[in-house]
Amino acid sequence: MRTTVGIIGAGPAGLLLARLLSDAGIDSVVLESRDRPYVEQRQRAGILEQGTIDVLRAAGAGERMDREGLRHDGIELRYDRTRHRVDFPALTGGRSVMVYAQTEVCKDLIALQLKDGAPLLFEAEALAVEDADTDRPRVRFRHEGREDVLECDYVVGCDGFWGVARKAIPASVSRTFERTYPFGWLGILADVPPSHDELVYARHDRGFALLSMRSPSVSRLYLQVPEGTDAEEWSDDEIWAELERRFETDDDWRLERGPITQKSVTPMRSYVHEPMRHGRLFLAGDAAHIVPPTGAKGLNLAVGDVVTFARALTDQRETGSSELLDAYSATCLRRVWQAERFSYDMTTLLHRAPDATPFEDRLQLARLARIASSRAAETELAEAYTGFPVD
Ligand SMILES: Cc1cc2nc3c(=O)[nH]c(=O)nc-3n(C[C@H](O)[C@H](O)[C@H](O)COP(=O)(O)OP(=O)(O)OC[C@H]3O[C@@H](n4cnc5c(N)ncnc54)[C@H](O)[C@@H]3O)c2cc1C
Repeated sequence: MRTTVGIIGAGPAGLLLARLLSDAGIDSVVLESRDRPYVEQRQRAGILEQGTIDVLRAAGAGERMDREGLRHDGIELRYDRTRHRVDFPALTGGRSVMVYAQTEVCKDLIALQLKDGAPLLFEAEALAVEDADTDRPRVRFRHEGREDVLECDYVVGCDGFWGVARKAIPASVSRTFERTYPFGWLGILADVPPSHDELVYARHDRGFALLSMRSPSVSRLYLQVPEGTDAEEWSDDEIWAELERRFETDDDWRLERGPITQKSVTPMRSYVHEPMRHGRLFLAGDAAHIVPPTGAKGLNLAVGDVVTFARALTDQRETGSSELLDAYSATCLRRVWQAERFSYDMTTLLHRAPDATPFEDRLQLARLARIASSRAAETELAEAYTGFPVD
């Protein structure tokens, strides 16, 4: 097989890239190791920044999102039994975010791709990227029980944190930056209308909690739990009781309970691989960087990377200059590090480390009180939450 751009992975990064390239008249092939139902049902992110919304619309994947997505103009910070709302449009000149699950973004992009896009092969596992530093990089892959080779002009590794693309970059040119956290998120999906119409980020002495939603009838809630926790250690009653404690306020706000349909634990990690390009191999999304989900940045960063790549390749085809392609890694990393910083700040602002001292507890409360009382501090949060522009 031969194509211009070989894309490994059909998560949000790979699927959107295939769309953007197809719109620019550039052919590609997407290889995805899992089957279609698995990719469409994998519960992950749910917050789309304004820039992501605009890109999905322009790619023709915004119709259902605009119908079913929930526009959110703010979040609530909850601490010390008090509530503070951060009003995004008022602080950012009109920007907001949208709640529309990653599962739905993937379903929309897959449907478009299968209807009129370039080939998208499910159950096609990339085994290795070869000759990345030549003009003819190749992806060796297994599909329908046999090995094959995809010859490309460019390979884009959109294969997530555990993928193979990153491994093709020699250790001598790789630098990684990593931080793990001594806690994770126990996340549940529950068939109950959300108890608040915007996301609630709660800092509590017992640990962090987040109230989120997937739709007007489905709640998504998270609890900070110790690293290595097994979701099955928690009964449904224990989860609801702990959520109630952490969301407690001095007013009459109540958390509505409902049947829990899914629960799982997500580890927390910050990670960046530099550079994001080696020869004709480019890394995009979780293949190159991971953020803890507190800042809701993972999916949005993946979108930013592939927009940058598609623009650069289109520009090279139109002008003959490879300046933008050469700048790909540096361009993406500027935004990536801002998202890393913000995700780290939100995580350390709201989670309680197992060895936290009373001094650190007071500092967290002081940081929250500063956001609630200073327009400058609040604006910094609102600008970062609603998104960093793609250069
Ligand atoms: C459990 C979990 C919960 C999360 N929750 C949130 C959240 O609440 N908010 C938030 O903003 N972000 C969240 N994230 C992060 C967000 O979902 C990711 O940043 C986003 O999925 C990145 O998209 P991607 O396309 O780069 O990678 P992925 O979505 O990981 O897609 C990679 C794709 O590559 C495929 N693949 C892997 N290896 C191969 C191979 N060898 N050959 C072929 N295909 C391969 C995989 O099957 C997958 O489909 C979460 C992540 C996880 C893991």
